Amino acid sequence: MNLKLLERLTTTPGVPGREHRVRQVILDACKGLYDTSRTDALGSLHLVRKPRPAKGKKAPRSPKKVMIAAHMDQIGFMVRAIDDKGFLWLNPVGGFDARNLFARVVTVVPDVRDPSKDLDGIMNPGGKPVHIASPEDRKKVPEATEFFVDLGLPPEEVKKRVNVGSMVVIKAPLYEIGRVVTGQCLDNRIACWVAIESLKKLKTHRCEVHCVFTVQEEVGLRGAGPATYAVQPDIGIALDTTLCCDTPGVPDNESVTRQGQGVGLNVMDGSAIVDVDLLNDFEALAQKKKIPYQRTILHRGGTDAGAMQRTAVGFRVMTLLTPTRYIHTVTETVHEDDMTAARDLLAAYLAQV
Ligand SMILES: [Zn+2]
Repeated sequence: MNLKLLERLTTTPGVPGREHRVRQVILDACKGLYDTSRTDALGSLHLVRKPRPAKGKKAPRSPKKVMIAAHMDQIGFMVRAIDDKGFLWLNPVGGFDARNLFARVVTVVPDVRDPSKDLDGIMNPGGKPVHIASPEDRKKVPEATEFFVDLGLPPEEVKKRVNVGSMVVIKAPLYEIGRVVTGQCLDNRIACWVAIESLKKLKTHRCEVHCVFTVQEEVGLRGAGPATYAVQPDIGIALDTTLCCDTPGVPDNESVTRQGQGVGLNVMDGSAIVDVDLLNDFEALAQKKKIPYQRTILHRGGTDAGAMQRTAVGFRVMTLLTPTRYIHTVTETVHEDDMTAARDLLAAYLAQV
């Protein structure tokens, strides 16, 4: 599989409120796939694709508006303080599990528009190394706010180059291992990939597609609501990842999804109960096209669908999910059959709605 695009998506930093670079990567990757584009005040990227009727067929006078929402932000940090020794102290944006943050190399981004100013750093929690730590110290899991970044530079220089509010992301490559890909921020760059690749696959369609790459999902679905208000869609489809806990240490009935068993059709999560007719439509289409799928429920957490559904007068929504193992770590892992199933089902739906 060609993973160039996914690699670019997962290695371009973009925490909530700092999505500038990843938005440009997406816009470049979508060349030829849309008719108009704009960025709204919060930073969400709206790509509109007019109906492309089949040969000899006319486009409908008032086409159905289908909105796709894929959030493009990732969990990460902003610098909250720089101390007199030049160490950076961090404020998390989005929910990292602090147990996964030890001994990381990070990228510090002082200027979202200028990659030449980026700096690498070393992240660890404050505290003693194992040799001199007490038995109690060793058992303690620090809070995310107890981690600091060492830039290997004198304090004066750090203060010159970095500011409070600079974005910090963990540096991690994308690997292809067996039949899976693993890396950081597959939540939600895999859904950005699904959206882009499904537009590439889509040839003719009667609906008007509003493909929106939303901002600030990881801090409470903040971008999707205003974006939906602007579009006023007939149908809203959120694309995201979901838990895939079919791994040791989790009871079977809590696995949420199973890896390699297909795209997740969300029934409900902590933010939305999807429109049951849409759910049934997607399921019937998956069966008809022989695309592997699995129904799924998550009792906590949510996606942009939660915000889309409740905007203005309310909208019908559906959520398509890519099962992701080890979610919210830097080894988020998806199976190639699940990502292609998500892509194929979305393209098939847009082609026939
Ligand atoms: Zn997500």
